[in-house]
Amino acid sequence: MAEERKGLPPGLHRDTLAVRAAVDKSQYGENSETLYLTSSFTQPDSATAARRFAGEEDGFIYSRFSNPTVASMEMRLAALEGTEACVGTASGMGAILLLCMGLLKSGDHVVCSRSVFGSTIKLIATEFGKFGVESTFVSQTDLAEWKAAMKPNTKLLFAETPTNPLTEVCDIRALADIAHDGSALLAVDNCFCSPALQQPAALGADIVIHSGTKYLDGQGRVVAGALCASESLIKGKLIPVMRSAGISLSPFNAWVVLKGLETLGIRMEAQSKRALELAQWLKTHPAVERVYYPGLASHPQHALAMAQQSGQGGAVLSFDVKAANPQQARERAFHVADSTRLLSVTANLGDVKSIITHPASTSHGRLSEDQRAAAGIRQNLLRVAVGLEHVGDLKDDLSRGLDTLS
Ligand SMILES: *Cc1c(COP(=O)(O)O)cnc(C)c1O
Repeated sequence: MAEERKGLPPGLHRDTLAVRAAVDKSQYGENSETLYLTSSFTQPDSATAARRFAGEEDGFIYSRFSNPTVASMEMRLAALEGTEACVGTASGMGAILLLCMGLLKSGDHVVCSRSVFGSTIKLIATEFGKFGVESTFVSQTDLAEWKAAMKPNTKLLFAETPTNPLTEVCDIRALADIAHDGSALLAVDNCFCSPALQQPAALGADIVIHSGTKYLDGQGRVVAGALCASESLIKGKLIPVMRSAGISLSPFNAWVVLKGLETLGIRMEAQSKRALELAQWLKTHPAVERVYYPGLASHPQHALAMAQQSGQGGAVLSFDVKAANPQQARERAFHVADSTRLLSVTANLGDVKSIITHPASTSHGRLSEDQRAAAGIRQNLLRVAVGLEHVGDLKDDLSRGLDTLS
């Protein structure tokens, strides 16, 4: 009889790890990874329990900070991002909270792009501001601004690329150099590209952030998050905070994301392909003023995006509907969104169901009109997170409104 198969052979390709990386099978040999829905783990004896609680021996203890299903998701995502380790969190924002709690203290300074996810800005500026963490917000694309913002107490640079909803792309390698020259770390929110298109760690980022809610799950089912980094950062700085703070990823949600990762590569490829076709079509539509999509040659950072994102634009695009004045702007955007019969009108993204969003009244609704104008988010802007429907049906759905504007 063949020797029992243990572990994976070395040197496997990312596509293979996406479907195979996981903790060892149980004694029953299940082919689909087990969902370990248990809050705690029994210990063989008290001495073993003592060693495990002290961290002297590996072994699962309690699902706030150690669970085999969560561990499988972490192993698989780390393999895809090309980092040594990963820690799962309750949500994408939970991941950013854990990052800030683990790496920052009162008196430290953060440099962050002005164009990152709105809740990220609130968390860093307002919540961590309360605890004495300073922050400076800079241009997504102007490296000189990032450099000028560096101070002796700068500990963290925070970027997200491409951004939501205008798909601005920043240069990860250049930002990593700026961070490291100042003895700071670079964290990159890789939500929009996912590791299928972009691996920030290979470009010098120290921490990669994920909202598992988006492309990693990929079918809009669960809220989840994760941080990928070196073993020393994850084990030394982040897991201890997770253990105390309990921003834990539930095993069920981890299992959904784990299975989502198996199809991440082909979904991203197919959804990016559809997004490019839709962007090219929108660009020629007489009712559309401007299309924002990194896959278009007209995008200001097209060359950088192609180099950094495996030659693909991703699955999110935005466009301005033509409008003569601000009053008409919102009406016309609403008309296009409300004329769809297929696209989901919701603020999520990363789903195989295509989604249409009016950022100025939803995700960016808490900003003042001036703040929105500074961010380039106008009332006539619509965002489409492209899913897996036939692109002809998506064009027809957008045409219902675009062709009937008064
Ligand atoms: C959605 C999102 C987050 C937050 O993730 P949640 O899982 O909703 O907490 C963070 N960053 C980006 C870029 C996102 O799109």
